[in-house]
Formats: sequence, C-alpha cells, structure tokens
Amino acid sequence: MPSFSIGVDLGGTNLRIAAVSPEGELLEKISVASNLSLGPDQVIAQMCDDIQHLCAKYRDAAKFLGVGVGVPGIVDVDAGVMQKAANLPGWEDYPARAEIEQRLRGCAVFEKKEPRVILENDARAAGLGEQWIGAARGVANVAMLTLGTGIGGCIILNGKIWRGRNGLAGEFGHLTVEPDGIPCGCGNRGCSERYASASALVRMAREAIAGGAAPALAQAAASQPEFGAKEICQLALQGDEPSRRIFSSFGRYLGILLADLVNILNFEIFVIGGGVASAWEAFSPKMLAELATRSIVYATAAHHPGLPKEERERGAGEGKTVITRAVLGGDAGLYGAARLGQITG
Ligand SMILES: [Zn+2]
Repeated sequence: MPSFSIGVDLGGTNLRIAAVSPEGELLEKISVASNLSLGPDQVIAQMCDDIQHLCAKYRDAAKFLGVGVGVPGIVDVDAGVMQKAANLPGWEDYPARAEIEQRLRGCAVFEKKEPRVILENDARAAGLGEQWIGAARGVANVAMLTLGTGIGGCIILNGKIWRGRNGLAGEFGHLTVEPDGIPCGCGNRGCSERYASASALVRMAREAIAGGAAPALAQAAASQPEFGAKEICQLALQGDEPSRRIFSSFGRYLGILLADLVNILNFEIFVIGGGVASAWEAFSPKMLAELATRSIVYATAAHHPGLPKEERERGAGEGKTVITRAVLGGDAGLYGAARLGQITG
C-alpha cells in the first residue's frame, strides 16, 4: 500500500499544508492566509482542519505516516515548544505540538494510535527538504543557508538534521562577520544576518538613498510600495552602480560567513536558498571570490580543469566544495516538514 505524510509550513503570510509521498511526490497542497494576529489557538485550529481534510481524502488509498510542522523561530523539538518566536506573537512557550496532537486525536486516520507530530524550525525543515529531493539529493552531509528577512541555517549529518544539545546548532545568521558591527536582536553585534539578508539589503539601500547619490534607488523606493530585495536586485542587474555596490557588500559578507562554514564543516555541498537566493546573479560572483580568498579548505580542494564549464562553475569534481542554489524555492520547508512526518512518524 502506498503511504503519505503531511507537511505544514507556517509562514508570516501563508499557512501551507501538503500531503506528500515517501518518494517526494506532492499529492495535494492547501494554502491559506496564516492570520497570525489571531493567536496560536486559531492558527492551530485552521491548521488541524486542513490536516484532517487531507488525511480523510487520502487515507483509504494510502497509509498515513505522520505530520511535520515547520515554524519560524527557535524550537525545542523534544518538548514540541517554540522557545523564541519573534515573528509569531503568542507562540513563545505555547505548547504547540501538544495542542496539535490534542486536536488531531479525534481524527479517524490515527485510529487507535497517538498522533505523531514533529515541530521543527522552518530553516532546518528547508535544509532537510533540499537534502531529500532538492539541490543536495543523495548527499549525506549538507549545510543550507536560508536568506530571507534574516539568515536561517541547517546542518544535515548522515541524512539527519543535526540539532545540537539544545536544538540550536546551525544558527548561521548569528555568526559574527563584523566584530564591532551593527547590533542584532540576539544581543550580539555584527551578526551575518545584519549584512547578508533581505532586511540588510533594504537598510543599505535606505542608507544609499539618504546619502543622496542613489537616484535610481530613490525613485524605486518612492514609486514602489513593496520596495525590497527584488527591486534592488533588478537595478543591480541593470548596471545601477549604487545597487551593485550593495550586492557586492552583501556577497562579501556572505562569502565571509561561508568561508567559516566551509572551514569548519568541509562538506561536499552547501545550499543557498530563501527568497533572496533568487538574486544569485547579483551577489554570487563576489561571494565566491571572497570564499576562495578566505577559506583554505575551499581553495585547496581538488580542481578539475577537465570538467565541462558548467560543472566547474557549479564546483563539481572530486574533493571540490559545491556552493549551489536551492531548487525547491518556497516549497523546501514544506517538503522537509513532510519528510519529518515520514522518518519519525
Ligand atoms: Zn544575532
């Protein structure tokens, strides 16, 4: 009998729920507004309605495996609780997993079994998704950086999320790249996510506009209410010098961060995802140059000039460190959450 799990991705805008097979086939996806202002009770009620709807639809044809839920914040996976939830008001210390399990208890799909739900940080889930069926498919040891409002991180060791003692392993966004730099919400200064995230791009653009020497950025900011990473990237790719400088700085700091990660982990592949990864053309040349300068591990890895050009650019080859873009886009966390429901359910 075929089987399936449910993955849930709770984002700032959308709540998405998907039924996914163990082969990574998407059976069905539901997307609704996340309505975070209503608080966790309401959000979880909506989530569980949709989970039950999908379970009821597929349970006759396929065996149900479990539920994985990706959330933006620091998660105590064992307790099923968010310890820090800056973007989810009311979720800190709220017993999210217990609430979800309680609501699913009446769901016929669980029959006499206790519902099994895994709550996980969304960037960790995204890393697992990319390692399962994305850019790092088939690779046992992988690190992923998710570039969004901040920087999320994930370390996969032997095909499993490496959580560390307290579930905090992989907080790449809070590695210091500038010792006396900009203060960060975590209490440190100069964290990488203050310099290489969507919010960092907007900060640099606003500073350039305030300096009076960035007319194209000023015009874009004044005319586009949604002004952000995408607009700055478009200008950079069109050759606007202030925008190019912003992405050069972004790429430099990302390269500094990557150099540390490559030196520490010496993994075969590092995946870069999240919304800002779509600006790859704008930041990756500087990022890779910085990485080559700063990482002895990256620079001394075997070089294979005989490989086809595309393979060389991808960094492929025995011993070479591969730095590559994520391929699942915004669905990486949803697939990863579904995978969690399969391997632990
Ligand atoms: Zn920080």
